[in-house]
Amino acid sequence: MKPRHLLCWGGYALKTHFDESEHWHGWWPWLCQVEPAALVCEVSEWEFVINTPCENAQKMYIGNAMGGNYAAVFAQLIINGSSQGPHCFIVPIRDENGGLYPGVTAIDMMHKEGLHGVDNGILIFNKVRVPRENLLDKFGSVAPDGQYHSPIKNKSARFNAMLAALTPSRLAVTFQALSAMKLGLTIAIRYSHSRRQFGPKAKEEVRIIEHQTQTLRLMPHLATVLALTFTSRYAGALLDEDIFQGKELVSSRVLQALVAGLKAYSTWENVGCLQDCRESTGGMGYMMENRISDLKCDADVFVTFEGDNVVMLQSVLHDAYDVDYEHRLLMSSFCTVATLIASKCQLQMNLISPADGAFL
Ligand SMILES: Cc1cc2nc3c(=O)[nH]c(=O)nc-3n(C[C@H](O)[C@H](O)[C@H](O)COP(=O)(O)OP(=O)(O)OC[C@H]3O[C@@H](n4cnc5c(N)ncnc54)[C@H](O)[C@@H]3O)c2cc1C
Repeated sequence: MKPRHLLCWGGYALKTHFDESEHWHGWWPWLCQVEPAALVCEVSEWEFVINTPCENAQKMYIGNAMGGNYAAVFAQLIINGSSQGPHCFIVPIRDENGGLYPGVTAIDMMHKEGLHGVDNGILIFNKVRVPRENLLDKFGSVAPDGQYHSPIKNKSARFNAMLAALTPSRLAVTFQALSAMKLGLTIAIRYSHSRRQFGPKAKEEVRIIEHQTQTLRLMPHLATVLALTFTSRYAGALLDEDIFQGKELVSSRVLQALVAGLKAYSTWENVGCLQDCRESTGGMGYMMENRISDLKCDADVFVTFEGDNVVMLQSVLHDAYDVDYEHRLLMSSFCTVATLIASKCQLQMNLISPADGAFL
């Protein structure tokens, strides 16, 4: 990245967004095909020309599209009529006063289920010219004579290398899902320790946590969230070390697969966990002031963004067959740890005798 852009972003003076998803297809199919309807960028003598050729190539869901100054835009790089695959360009969207630059259209996508603090919009480019230095050229560059150069010859492998940059943000989504679960569980478990309902005959009412069903519903989630926290911290430490060592993220396929798996596992767990928190707090759980409904709406999108969970698991499977035995073991272990702890917890609860639970 060019120092000039770092200067803008580092000072927080200008807002940016990351534009990968398109109207016709999400970001993933780009891995394997050159879509003729995709956003394109053609090389002129001193500039790149970013163009949205049709509706299907419009950029969708773009966070901060209604206020951002710069966008990191993925577009097919076309040189002399032939595509070199998707590349990332820094495209100025608005000036410092918020006015859109000529050729740029931004449309608000309006109401969403959650995440109301950020707008999401559609971006359309009509032959927008950007300087040649705005191509992020780590994986592919264009010389002044128009010749294309890349250290990675295969187009799919090249795009894979660019997508490896999503590993840190997938880990960030994992931690956000874990935070939502911890908050939901704190609310639900505290409520369960203070709220009382019918108890054994002719005795005082008991706290609802003493009902076996209530404990069985919440404790496995608590165990899972703890196991996932330790595994995610471990993945974070590996990632930190790789970045510190200056290692290319794409070269650590095991780590990428581990993070993809953690993202899918934790965000799905989050959906089930928050629903159980909501039910475990009865009518109170439905009230906005008690935060669980907000958490549910905000965290729901985690299962599809930064890569849909089904596709994430497919990539884990794909990598699991490709890596050696020792690494395969590491990747599968995080799933088993979480499941084992959760089921062990459930087993202990089941050991309570029917007599103990007569009031249930
Ligand atoms: C609130 C929000 C914010 C967002 N912010 C941004 C942003 O700032 N920048 C950006 O670029 N994008 C952003 N996105 C887009 C987001 O990354 C995509 O929605 C996400 O990657 C899923 O892609 P898609 O919507 O095209 O789903 P689709 O690809 O249409 O998937 C729909 C279904 O098809 C299935 N499917 C798709 N492909 C396969 C396959 N290969 N194999 C099996 N099943 C498959 C999926 O599992 C899923 O069930 C945002 C989305 C939302 C909702």
